[in-house]
Amino acid sequence: MLAFLRRLANAFELGTCWSCGYSCVGANSLCRDCDNALPRWYPRCCQHLSDIEQHISEGQRLCRYWYGALRWEPQVQQLITLFKFRNKAELAPLLANQLAAHLLLCYREQALPDCIVAVPMTQQAWRRRGFHQTALLARYLSAALKIPYINGGLRKIRSVPMQHMTSQSSRWDNSRRSQLALKDFSGCTVAVVDDVLSTGATMMAAADALYKKGAKAVDAWAVVYNQHD
Ligand SMILES: [Zn+2]
Repeated sequence: MLAFLRRLANAFELGTCWSCGYSCVGANSLCRDCDNALPRWYPRCCQHLSDIEQHISEGQRLCRYWYGALRWEPQVQQLITLFKFRNKAELAPLLANQLAAHLLLCYREQALPDCIVAVPMTQQAWRRRGFHQTALLARYLSAALKIPYINGGLRKIRSVPMQHMTSQSSRWDNSRRSQLALKDFSGCTVAVVDDVLSTGATMMAAADALYKKGAKAVDAWAVVYNQHD
């Protein structure tokens, strides 16, 4: 019943703010106050590269840029929890638009990448969640930024334990070589999309796979950058 009413409201572009519940114009959006209050990062490369350098092996190439739009603070945690763990796939355009706006500032003095791929998820995780959250974000980003999205560009080849179950060093060991690029990316600059970026291990696994298939540069994009100590 509630889902039906929400669909009906969406059809008329009447919605409630995802953060505070206040009635607002525009389905799947935030009210102006909540949008203004979103904790955003400055439009520049995330400052956690020194930490990543401790974990990469010799000769391994880093991502060129690391961009995350929002900070991991309560309002953002609430939105990501709804999106990832309460199956609110309809939040994807809102989150993708936040990232797109951030990226347009980040790339204002240079060309955007040639194509977008999504961080892959296992078949089991996909079934459990009911939708592919990073692919969904990547599709909306592709439309917003007018860059082609390469469907199935990356595949997960080994299941990595849930992030909170392993220590940081074992997360790096686990995720290394956990992704495979299925297309030829020769000479392309490729952006990899994830929802939350924290240690960068998942992004580095994606970058490894893409560089092996000829990518010229790999940029890491995430809706949220969760800076860790
Ligand atoms: Zn609100």
